Amino acid sequence: MKGFAMLGLNKVGWIEKDKPAIGPMDAMVKPLAVSPCTSDVHTVWEGAIGDRHNLILGHEAVAEVVEVGALVKDFKPGDKVIIPAITPYWETVECQMGYHQHSGGMLLGWQFSNVRDGVFSEYFQVIQADGNLALLPENVSVEEGVMLSDMVPTGFHGADNAEVAYGETVVVIGIGPVGLMAVAGSNLRGAARIFAVGSREICQNTSKLYGATDLINYKNGDVVTQIKDLTKGKLVDKVIIAGGTLEAFEWALKLVRPAGTISNINYLGSGEYIKLNRIDWGLGMGHIKIIGGLMPGGRKNMEYLSNLLKYGKLDVKPLLTHRLKGLSEIEKGLYLMKDKPRDLIKPVVTM
Ligand code: NAD
Ligand code: ZN
Repeated sequence: MKGFAMLGLNKVGWIEKDKPAIGPMDAMVKPLAVSPCTSDVHTVWEGAIGDRHNLILGHEAVAEVVEVGALVKDFKPGDKVIIPAITPYWETVECQMGYHQHSGGMLLGWQFSNVRDGVFSEYFQVIQADGNLALLPENVSVEEGVMLSDMVPTGFHGADNAEVAYGETVVVIGIGPVGLMAVAGSNLRGAARIFAVGSREICQNTSKLYGATDLINYKNGDVVTQIKDLTKGKLVDKVIIAGGTLEAFEWALKLVRPAGTISNINYLGSGEYIKLNRIDWGLGMGHIKIIGGLMPGGRKNMEYLSNLLKYGKLDVKPLLTHRLKGLSEIEKGLYLMKDKPRDLIKPVVTM
C-alpha cells in the first residue's frame, strides 16, 4: 500500500509498505477524509520528537472499517468511524490513573505518526477498536467529522484543563484551528469575555463566530499591555495557550489572576526552557496553576463531542478553508499547513 511519510528530518515523500497485520482487538480501516496538522509540521521540520524514518504521517481521519479482529464487539466492516488522534492501549496503569494520553509512557497514547504508521495511507490499523473508534453520526459529513479527530478535542481540552466557568474572562493565545476550538470550548463552558490573540484576518473573523469578544493582534504591540488596557488593568481568570512561542507563558503569567490557570495545548516544538517570572508567579505562592495536556481520545469522548455536531451546538465548517480530493493531494495539504497562506485555517482531503 501507498503512504505519505516522513523519510527523515526535513524530508517527506510517498513510500510503499505492506498492509499492517491486525490483532484480535484491532480494526483495519481505509481513510475517507484526512487532515494534515501543524503537529506533522513540528514533527518533520522541527524534529520535535526526534528523527523518524519512513514513518507514515497523519493522525486525523474519518475512515471506513474494512476488517475487524475476532474480539471486536461493536464495529464491523462498512462502518464509518471517527479516528481520534490519540488511540491508547486501554489496560495500562496510566489509564487507571486517569491519563490514557500517557498509556505506556509519556505521550504514548499518541500512536499515529509518532510510534506507529499514521493515517496518510491507503489502509491503516487501529489498535483496540472498541475503545478507540466511534461511529460518525449520519448527519455529519466526513469532512466535518475529521475535525473531531484532533481540532475539537484539543481546543476543548485547553478549556477543560483551564476549568473555564460561567462569567469568566479567558485569553486564548494563538487562534489557528486549535485555538479557535479553544475559543469555542470556552464559550460553551460559559466564559463571558474571550480575548482572541492572533494576526490573520480569517482567524480573527472566525474567532468571533466561536464567541471571541475582543480581538488582539500580537503584531500591533505588547499583548499584555493591549489586554490590560481593555480590562482597565484587571487580571483575567484563565489563559489558554494554543500557539506562539515560549514567550506566551511569560505573557500568560502577567495576565492571569491569583489562583487562575494557564492551560497549554500548544506543541512546544522548539526552544529549551520556559521562563516563569518569580514575582508574576506570586513569589511562588500565587496558587496559579500551569498545566499542559495532550488531547484525550477514547470512544466516549468522541461520541460526546460528535453529539455537539449532530445536534447543531457546534459548527466546524468555518474551519474547513481548503478542500482537496484524492490521496495524492495529501502532500499539498501538508505543505499548506507548513506554509500557512493567509486564507488558510485547515485543509481537508477527501478520498
Ligand atoms: P496554527 O499554526 O494553525 O495556529 C497557531 C497560530 O498561532 C498561527 O495562526 C500563528 O500565526 C499564531 N501565532 C504565531 N505566533 C503567535 C504569537 N506570538 N501570539 C499569538 N499567536 C501566534 O496551529 P494549530 O493547528 O492551531 O495548532 C496549534 C498548536 O497545537 C500546534 O503547536 C499544534 O502542534 C498543537 N497541537 C496540540 C495538540 C495537543 O494534543 N495538545 C493537538 C493538536 C495540535
Ligand atoms: Zn493533529
